Amino acid sequence: PSRISSRIRRIKPSPSSAAADRFAELRREGRDIVNLAIGEPDFDTPAHIRQAGCEAIERGETRYTPVAGTFALREAIAAKLERENGLRYGPREIIVTCGAKHALFNALSVTVEAGHEVIVPAPFWVSYPDMVLACDGTPVIVTCREEDDFRLTPEALEAAITPATRWLVFNSPTNPTGTTYTEAQLRALADVLLRHPQVMVLTDDIYEHICFDDAPPRHLLAIEPALRERTLVVNGVSKTYAMTGWRIGYAAGPSDIIAALDMLQSQSTSGVSSVSQAAAVVALNAEPAFLPEWVATYRLRRDTAVRMLNAIPGIRARAPGGAFYLYPHCGGLIGKRTPAGKVLETDNDVVIHLLEAGGVMVLAGTAYGVSPHFRMSTATSAQQIEEGCRRIAAAVAQLR
Ligand code: PLP
Repeated sequence: PSRISSRIRRIKPSPSSAAADRFAELRREGRDIVNLAIGEPDFDTPAHIRQAGCEAIERGETRYTPVAGTFALREAIAAKLERENGLRYGPREIIVTCGAKHALFNALSVTVEAGHEVIVPAPFWVSYPDMVLACDGTPVIVTCREEDDFRLTPEALEAAITPATRWLVFNSPTNPTGTTYTEAQLRALADVLLRHPQVMVLTDDIYEHICFDDAPPRHLLAIEPALRERTLVVNGVSKTYAMTGWRIGYAAGPSDIIAALDMLQSQSTSGVSSVSQAAAVVALNAEPAFLPEWVATYRLRRDTAVRMLNAIPGIRARAPGGAFYLYPHCGGLIGKRTPAGKVLETDNDVVIHLLEAGGVMVLAGTAYGVSPHFRMSTATSAQQIEEGCRRIAAAVAQLR
């Protein structure tokens, strides 16, 4: 019998972390691999934010902070939510966490019990279903269609809700598809949610600023304030400010949930790094002058990748509204044979062929809940993206 708990035995390692490990291993072996599996901005944390971290160290801000985060950071988060999202939260309705990931995991931990269902639209960020499982809940996967740009429709949401539904996890722009929603689409989802008061809403807004739509929609909660008492807003500085390693995320929501999160953190991790919190204050309070250029860069890369992928027979790519991923369909490659005689039966086989024969790393759609697809990141240079697409084309050309 295993001495590992059944809760933990239900979950599996994150495939993106596994891909990062595999990439490092191939590099050590001296192989030249174009890595298009990356889930973080390739930009450096802007200088004024790095400086703020250094200054915090020099000022001696190196001690424990309040469990929920420094008052300065919670104030900066409150100001951000009001300024950018039109949402008003007081300091007792906000908690700082070790990345958005920690906020999501802890939110499920303090609210989900065996028998509770959590709706996760697919394609999904790989961690959601496993987080639900680790909290004894049941993930209810709702498959969104490529024809709908992988958007959750009100009909599909309505059909998935049961009396046991605890949460809807809502991520837009979405990882791995880059899907965004219009205000009318958000309004229609809100109308469904209003009919089911037992359903709470966990919004994962981590990619909100990486949005190519001309007029980014307002927040779901700004569109329907009546959901406020049952919504937890999760966000962080990782993607917007290229601060993935600083590990600063946060949750804003009803005070009972925030108090439970505070209690859990007080008995587990305590407050997050004081130095990172000081840097995040500056990140959130300063004008993000660098951001328009970053977003324009992501957009150009997206356009290049979509054009090059669509020129490859057997692959079909849509141009997403946000984030830095593409989720191309690769059904045209299924059933084809590699030079070694292996038949590609799944998107996982496709991805292995692209890696082994093409020297380009992408992630198989299987992990994201909708196949046959792969996730390709555009968080790398245009040259790498072009070279990666050329390698995909060459690997595909070998198939019979
Ligand atoms: N949510 C989504 C959809 C993500 O893609 C990621 C990171 O890949 C996260 C949350 C985690 O962000 P953080 O670095 O703040 O933990």
